[in-house]
Amino acid sequence: MTIAPGATLGILGGGQLGRMIASAAARLGLKVHVYNDDPASPAFEVAAFSTCASFEDAAALEAFARAVNVVTYEFENVPSDAAALVSRFAPLRPGAQALATAQDRLAEKSFVAGLGIETAPFAAIDDLAGLEAAVARMGRPCVLKTRRFGYDGKGQVTIRDGSDLAQAYEAIGRAPAILEGFVPFAGEYSVVAARGADGSFAAFELCENVHRDHILALTRVPADAADSTRDEAAAIARAIADALDYVGVFAVELFLLREGDGAERLLVNEIAPRVHNSGHWTDSGAVTSQFEQHVRAVCGWPLGSCARLGAVEMVNLVGDACEKWRAILADPAARLTLYGKAQARPGRKMGHVTYLR
Ligand code: AMP
Repeated sequence: MTIAPGATLGILGGGQLGRMIASAAARLGLKVHVYNDDPASPAFEVAAFSTCASFEDAAALEAFARAVNVVTYEFENVPSDAAALVSRFAPLRPGAQALATAQDRLAEKSFVAGLGIETAPFAAIDDLAGLEAAVARMGRPCVLKTRRFGYDGKGQVTIRDGSDLAQAYEAIGRAPAILEGFVPFAGEYSVVAARGADGSFAAFELCENVHRDHILALTRVPADAADSTRDEAAAIARAIADALDYVGVFAVELFLLREGDGAERLLVNEIAPRVHNSGHWTDSGAVTSQFEQHVRAVCGWPLGSCARLGAVEMVNLVGDACEKWRAILADPAARLTLYGKAQARPGRKMGHVTYLR
């Protein structure tokens, strides 16, 4: 079915990512229907239609899916039953395979390694004895992560010399887990890219990310990396997208290693099957924003240009940093986006600023 302006895009999830996708969709003449379980969802405020119901509510999910022309999501923990149900009534883009792969760190790393792309060494952990054996094999330091529901450093613990393994396993709730070798990276990078419904592909430029307290603090483009590294990042993204028959925008989080002779190597840490915080710079730093690109892809429209417009820095406003909004607005180089969240709690992403120079 052809989707044209005037059609309705359904979005599962109602956070700031959904809010920014909805705004981009409205700009292209689409109507947006947001489905989320929290009445205080930032995306509800900018959508033509909204449904506030649980992701277990089959009747509400069916009514939502019947009311829209295509469904996408803005968070990767959409329950698989909800995704399956919705996709019976409307195309779900990206599809269930991408969701299932990205939801489980073991499936994700196995998938990436299966494509011949380098990751940290990893092992599946199902009990304490397995953890002890894997740590003995892999050596310390290493990182223990839950297979599911980890984000911004939650659900993970670094095992160092002297760390007690029983305590580490306890700290992640004795959940099914993955143990990873510690990567002595020179920096954290990411590539945000899109694959269209016709298999077309477009990648934004490689970007460099700085984290504070496990939360993305800023993204810089152009990144400090060799041209061959940028090309490799785009090739990695393309291989992943093709193998998943992916439709939409996604991000690949990467570690960059620098050898003694300066040679660079990329390792994949994670795939985010959605628009991504490290792509927010595109809202004013690229010809097409990642949000518009996602809308174009899931509607089956031509992808837009990923060309960069200048040197860009995107700074996240975390917690009470958003209180400086007036000073930010007074800076002619700054473009401010606020997510409309009522309460600025520590660690909560309230908005971001894109500086274009
Ligand atoms: P993740 O939840 O996998 O994105 O991990 C959160 C952060 O922990 C990353 O951004 C890195 O800073 C760090 N980290 C995760 N895995 C590793 C690893 N295998 N080696 C070194 N640092 C890691």
